[in-house]
Amino acid sequence: MKLNIVQTGDPVLRKRARELSREEILSAPIQDLISSMKETMYEAPGVGLAAPQIGESIQLAVIEDREEFLRTIPKELLKERNRSPVAFHVIINPKITIDKSANYAEFYEGCLSVAPFVGVVPRALAVKVECLNEHAEPVSISAEGWYARILQHEIDHLHGVLCVDHMKIKTLSTVENYIKFWQK
Ligand code: ZN
Repeated sequence: MKLNIVQTGDPVLRKRARELSREEILSAPIQDLISSMKETMYEAPGVGLAAPQIGESIQLAVIEDREEFLRTIPKELLKERNRSPVAFHVIINPKITIDKSANYAEFYEGCLSVAPFVGVVPRALAVKVECLNEHAEPVSISAEGWYARILQHEIDHLHGVLCVDHMKIKTLSTVENYIKFWQK
């Protein structure tokens, strides 16, 4: 079932989401929610969707950077962003670690809940995440490049943080003007 994506200004996007228990994760309502969030992300389209974005204040997000998206993006942009396909997966109750010596990169970034705007957001180039998957099994993720950016963005959502909070605000642009003036 396709879900409605809430937009900035809705208080649910500013709340710290609560953690899920193992029993909840394995329950039918959460399993159904995961498949609806997958469908909603696919339709949007987006590379990640956090539960607060569909009005549920729980620590759960879905991520997928599909190969068919990447085919529409110039190769040099993909290389610059260190962006490659990421298979569909679910992160629950994530703990993110950013090394103190981590390097940061600045790229335009958008959010399905801050439509239709993008802007430059600095993000760490590498992160580690400890979380549970949709089977309530512990998972360790080491991510670099664009995938590390997606994880930082989605985990921020679970803490009530939006990309605009980190944005170089003078770069705020509509998607249309980003493509017209800044993509190159
Ligand atoms: Zn977002």
